[in-house]
Amino acid sequence: MGSLTDGWGREIKSVRLSVTDKCNFRCRYCMPAEGLEWLGRDELLSFEETARVVRLLAAMGIEEVRLTGGEPLARRDLPVLVSMLADIPGVTDLSLTTNGVLLDRFAGPLVAAGLRRLNVSLDSLSHVRFAEITRRDALDRVLAGLDEAERYGELRPIKVNCVGIRGFTEQEVPALAELARRKPYVVRFIEFMPLDAEERWAGDDVLTGAEIRALIEERWPLEEIPAKPSSTARQFRFMDGAGEVGFVSPVSEPFCSSCDRIRLTADGHLRTCLFSRREWDLKTPLREGASDEELSDLIRLAVRHKELKHRINDPGFVRASRSMSQIGG
Ligand code: SAM
Repeated sequence: MGSLTDGWGREIKSVRLSVTDKCNFRCRYCMPAEGLEWLGRDELLSFEETARVVRLLAAMGIEEVRLTGGEPLARRDLPVLVSMLADIPGVTDLSLTTNGVLLDRFAGPLVAAGLRRLNVSLDSLSHVRFAEITRRDALDRVLAGLDEAERYGELRPIKVNCVGIRGFTEQEVPALAELARRKPYVVRFIEFMPLDAEERWAGDDVLTGAEIRALIEERWPLEEIPAKPSSTARQFRFMDGAGEVGFVSPVSEPFCSSCDRIRLTADGHLRTCLFSRREWDLKTPLREGASDEELSDLIRLAVRHKELKHRINDPGFVRASRSMSQIGG
């Protein structure tokens, strides 16, 4: 069917699939305390509809599928979808991003269904500060979820993702770096982006990857590990050999020129950038009986219009048309 290439010559290899916009956490940098207006059940793509889109994407060369949300484990029967996606020829890399709170229950069924990679979001290892940032007293359950996931050798690497927020994360860095040294987890620090539903983000709130790296190196020197060109993260190992950390720095070191991703929202809209203002509705044609060829043509058209880059640092930056949890982070 030929590869999927955007108007700037970038080949698309990866899709982030949101399976729900709902979340059981209320992270302050993402969602308001009262939550958001959730999508109705009928608005969500069914597992069959999702798998059909992924089958078409895989036929066009997409290899990597990551499930996200909202909180993807809040979607009922998620392992059923995982097994459907794991069976699609061409999908060689199937992963999940989760807050981890339901992972103690789901790690086994997910692995049995074919999941091979896992990202767990974790912003603090202190009970009080975890509850402060997520508005949920759930650190122990997340750590239990990570322990359970670790039991499955098939599930590697396990990545732990932390959003770097100035005035909060500095204090968390030593314990998180220590976690990377103590456990078989790659701890990654991701810069805070203007995707919070409450629109409070300001440039000064971004604790950059370079700043966090400097904090870690005060105690533990790091050396860079070469990464593949499409990688969003710069990877480092501790020079004494104990573990790895990574830095995803979309604000201070944008990686748009090597971006190979698209996103599908839980309600079946294709987005070609986290910061898109425009979406491509696949759900309506899916439900109106469009053929595979018609759907593939629409996907190709959308991808041809993929944005050159985000413009977070440009004067007059206009925020994305939805917030992080509604897009699928
Ligand atoms: N609920 C799942 C989780 O916690 O991983 C998946 C969805 S969540 C939106 C995906 C990731 O986006 C999490 O690591 C979260 O911390 C991150 N995130 C949310 N809002 C963000 C923002 N404004 N900037 C950077 N990362 C953000």
